[in-house]
Amino acid sequence: MSADCLFCRIVERTLPATVVAEDETLVSFQDINPQAPTHILIVPKTHIANVADLTDATAPAIMGRLTLMANRLAKQFGFADDGYRLVVNCGPHGGQTVSHLHLHLLGGRRMTWPPG
Ligand code: AMP
Ligand code: ZN
Repeated sequence: MSADCLFCRIVERTLPATVVAEDETLVSFQDINPQAPTHILIVPKTHIANVADLTDATAPAIMGRLTLMANRLAKQFGFADDGYRLVVNCGPHGGQTVSHLHLHLLGGRRMTWPPG
């Protein structure tokens, strides 16, 4: 837990968010500035700044859990069959603006490629 981290505060419920799912290790909530009809952020409860900070010990479980939660939510929100996009931004050139690892789940419309 990092007191000045936005997403730690959402995990701790000291900052309001529309939480859509929670388990022992993850919290999922609606993005405040959605880029698709459904735009959910899935975050580990422990503070990890970004994917670059994952280790051999932490990466498989955390990335696996984030992905499985995204798949579950895609079914729940009704776009699993149409398809969806999972995004992890890392660092300034990756477009990361919040330094707490998060997986974006975007669905409900056809995405374009390449990304901006
Ligand atoms: P990134 O640019 O990959 O770091 O993504 C950060 C995301 O967090 C952006 O899509 C923001 O819209 C979103 N965001 C920022 N503050 C909040 C908040 N208080 N509640 C929900 N989403 C947020
Ligand atoms: Zn944090």
